[in-house]
Amino acid sequence: MRMPSVKYQRGDKVMGRWPGSSLYYEVKVLGFDISSQLYTVIYKDGTELELKEPDIKNFSGFQSRPRSRSRSRSPGRRRSRSRSPGRTTRRSSSRTAAVAAAAVTESSLSSNKDTKLEVRLDPLQETMAAENNSNNKHEENNTANKVNEKAEAEVESEKNQGRYNLRRRKDDGGAKPAAVVAEQQEKEVIKEAAPPAATLATPLDFGGKIGAYLWLLFLPSWVLFLVFQVNLEDPSLLNFPPPLPPLEAFWDVRALGFVILWILFQALLYVLPVGKLSEGMPLRSGERLKYRTNGFFAIMVSAVAVAVAVHQGVDLTYIHSHFLQLAVASFLISVLLSVYLYARSRYAAPEQLALGGNSGNVVYDFFKGHELNPRIKDFDLKFFCEMRPGLIGWCLINFALALAEMKLHHLDAPSYSMILVNVFMLLYVVDGLWNEEAILTTMDLMHDGFGFMLAFGDLVWVPFTYTLQAYYLVSHPNSLSLPAVGAIITLKLLGFYIFRKSNSEKNAFRRDPSDPQLSHLKTIPTATGKSLLVSGWWGVVRHPNYLGDLMMALAWSLPCGFSHLLPWYYMIYFIILLVHRDSRDMRDCRRKYGSAWDEYCRTVRYRIIPRVY
Ligand code: NDP
Repeated sequence: MRMPSVKYQRGDKVMGRWPGSSLYYEVKVLGFDISSQLYTVIYKDGTELELKEPDIKNFSGFQSRPRSRSRSRSPGRRRSRSRSPGRTTRRSSSRTAAVAAAAVTESSLSSNKDTKLEVRLDPLQETMAAENNSNNKHEENNTANKVNEKAEAEVESEKNQGRYNLRRRKDDGGAKPAAVVAEQQEKEVIKEAAPPAATLATPLDFGGKIGAYLWLLFLPSWVLFLVFQVNLEDPSLLNFPPPLPPLEAFWDVRALGFVILWILFQALLYVLPVGKLSEGMPLRSGERLKYRTNGFFAIMVSAVAVAVAVHQGVDLTYIHSHFLQLAVASFLISVLLSVYLYARSRYAAPEQLALGGNSGNVVYDFFKGHELNPRIKDFDLKFFCEMRPGLIGWCLINFALALAEMKLHHLDAPSYSMILVNVFMLLYVVDGLWNEEAILTTMDLMHDGFGFMLAFGDLVWVPFTYTLQAYYLVSHPNSLSLPAVGAIITLKLLGFYIFRKSNSEKNAFRRDPSDPQLSHLKTIPTATGKSLLVSGWWGVVRHPNYLGDLMMALAWSLPCGFSHLLPWYYMIYFIILLVHRDSRDMRDCRRKYGSAWDEYCRTVRYRIIPRVY
């Protein structure tokens, strides 16, 4: 339907003047209200404004016209000098208050780039954007403040004159001009009188502070419960509590020694100057850390070392018979590591802290991880723990369990089920290490601090619960027909294909958005400067990598049959984990990308499984 006879029509791309400035931005006309004679336009970041006709210019004519910077018009500059107790605050709390101002500044700084302009308005989005972009050059901030002050004065005066109307955004309680946002943020900072780091935090997760206490108790107890269960002839949730071994059975110094040796061995491989030095994503400080991505080398050397040890008569079935003690020793190390991590994080600079683990509550931050990238010189503790001792240890334990199965049942070779479980998981780990660089663009590395959650997850949860299928098969053999083997392998390969392709696509895009190999993909620009993929794998569902991962998880449990729920534990846990992770990510992305994220979600409607979820 066409709008009444007016100069600009719905859908027209035009240039709209930003209130309070002489700057024009690309906007789309959404409608025209005859009574008020105002056009409703939408900016690229989703902000809707109502503008009068003189504030709109034709797109084509505009580009060729020289741009006026309107330097002479600056009542705001004078006025703002006297205004602001926040001036000092603004300087000291460098990011928060200056961020919104930077929106205007960035626009002005880049105004000679014609239409490639973006305005950022959502305060939280601003904060996050600043986190990402926070080279936060001081000169820019200073300019930002000045421009902001000027804009603010003009915004106020124009608003009073009724020259524009700001429309509510759908769900953020109404967008505000950048200048107004800046002032609000400033006031909040003054009111809270908190140090800058404390203002930089995201909403609490995992049930908040109480949740953190509960998780600290629940996670180790759950691992113990599973380990006790898998030793039972008839593992069942109804066997609660499972029979407990005597207290001394929990502890074996040798087991602790083996775990420490294993970690040191992996640390040695990690620091060897072999393999690529990869760059992580830009930090809030603008810095990009370097990571030694030699995981594939590490697993190959580890495999050779294990083969030599077995050849020399080392009995790896010790791992099966001392599973509990090894798990307890690893738990102890993870706790000590977490304490160390939290203690050192107290001395970390604000920009080194993880937003998600910066609540100010000791227990929550201890659990969630306070420091983002704790390092001892170049040794990155989080990256190392995420990728090495636990992950490679998982394969070692699986292999030992295959040997235990052969020993227990006097077999010349492991069962088909055991082989499938071993090979599938090995493939997963080897692939992860081969593509180790890809982990640098994942949530764990980019956003989560390193605390108990990840330390325990990496050193205890992964090696001692992801191996439950293999452990279960040692004492609960499950024979498979060849067609069943074929079907399971097909499922695994399909899942692997989806997982690998989608992860690689996103990783390549994040590393180089202008990569010619990705030029066919459609994207949505966001106010942070990053874009979102909206076609290819990331156009099928919002987390295609989770879909592939879940298919693989199914293939890992199927070889164990349907007699007990225990070997399906991983599948069930993984669904819960990924659904929760997905909602965490949705929330974070919504905060980061604002309306661009909404647009992405409108275009890509399903989260993980097409047409289902
Ligand atoms: P993702 O690798 O999916 O990363 C999510 C991030 O990707 C978002 O925060 C966003 O970050 C970016 N992103 C989201 N949508 C888009 C888009 N459309 N275009 C471009 N970038 C986008 O999350 P995870 O770190 O959770 O998972 C990584 C892999 O690890 C997955 O394959 C997962 O299955 C696996 N995994 C396995 C676990 C296991 O125990 N086996 C546990 C957890 C994960 P930004 O925009 O800031 O770049």
